[in-house]
Amino acid sequence: MTETEEPQTKETLLLRGYDLAADAAAINQAGRILRGGGIVAIPTETVYGLAGNALDPDATGKIYAAKGRPSDNPLIVHIDRLEEWPPLVRELPEEALLLARKFWPGPLTIILPKSGLVPDATSGGLDTVAVRMPWDPIARAVIRAAGMPLAAPSANRSGSPSPTTWRHCVDDLWGRVDAILQSHDCRVGVESTVLSLCREGGGAVRPRLLRPGAVTLEQLREVLGEVVVDRGVLEHLENGEKAHSPGMKYRHYAPAAEVVLVAGDREGFRGYIRDHERPGEYAICFEEDLPMVELPAFAYGKRGDHAAQAREIFRLLRELDRLGAKKIYVHAPEKDGVGLAVYNRLVRAAAFHIEQA
Ligand code: AMP
Ligand code: MG
Repeated sequence: MTETEEPQTKETLLLRGYDLAADAAAINQAGRILRGGGIVAIPTETVYGLAGNALDPDATGKIYAAKGRPSDNPLIVHIDRLEEWPPLVRELPEEALLLARKFWPGPLTIILPKSGLVPDATSGGLDTVAVRMPWDPIARAVIRAAGMPLAAPSANRSGSPSPTTWRHCVDDLWGRVDAILQSHDCRVGVESTVLSLCREGGGAVRPRLLRPGAVTLEQLREVLGEVVVDRGVLEHLENGEKAHSPGMKYRHYAPAAEVVLVAGDREGFRGYIRDHERPGEYAICFEEDLPMVELPAFAYGKRGDHAAQAREIFRLLRELDRLGAKKIYVHAPEKDGVGLAVYNRLVRAAAFHIEQA
């Protein structure tokens, strides 16, 4: 997008909660903008998404430009009804239908070989397409109002922490998008689980977890049996090593401050912080450890409360930037359940700087 083509309409559309009737005018206005090829930041249950017509390369081009997103990083296509799925893909294996029945609408994205309907601009040049049916009633109403599947990556500037409130979208995208829906905070707080159901070597479907989220690895294994965890979920892929998911790059979800992920028990964390205390440094810890951390500290939930950690982590990283933090020590979450999703985001926010306390 050139300087002169930048969106001129800069508006927030106020919504009142989950009341679709009360919000019909704002939702219809969003639908009109999207049908006209514009882009709109919308709430979903995971994080705010920057939506545009998934089948129109001009619209998705605007999304990449507004986010500053590399064009090889594919977009997730959001649908409102199951019938919208078959036209987007070349096949729908039994595994995909099983998962959709169990977890849709919800925070699970399924990758399959794409049909000719999906432009290369949407799939980042890949031969596959990622599809999800969100739970959020407002997101679904916007898809219906637009009358088309919507590509909607997180509504942040590429690389920064994902937006979990409409204000985060304003901070990152004001003047770069056609409208921002002023709606509720996101109840999940981290992006969807991304699972590939492609066939490997032309043979059987080989479920592969590319990004952990609120639909957990344990839940997926209950339905599918074996699920491979892609190496990129927890490890830093060396330069030149092929990433199955182009979005799982080295540094991502990162605030301006340096992030250090500190693994270990409460005494280990406390000791590590005590040795490192300097001005401009902050800690993000578990709620029960707040009184004993000798640094300005914020809690992101109890140690075992992965749902709270997911809901709070991006908001806190942004908040500490606002306070001018230079360095943030985060007590690493456990890696089971939704904790794996939180850990996956933090390890990237920390550019894989992990200290064992
Ligand atoms: P975001 O839209 O910001 O939630 O990021 C979408 C994530 O899904 C990124 O990590 C992408 O790399 C990944 N993704 C989307 N489509 C595909 C695909 N066809 N193959 C592999 N990964 C994908
Ligand atoms: Mg993102």
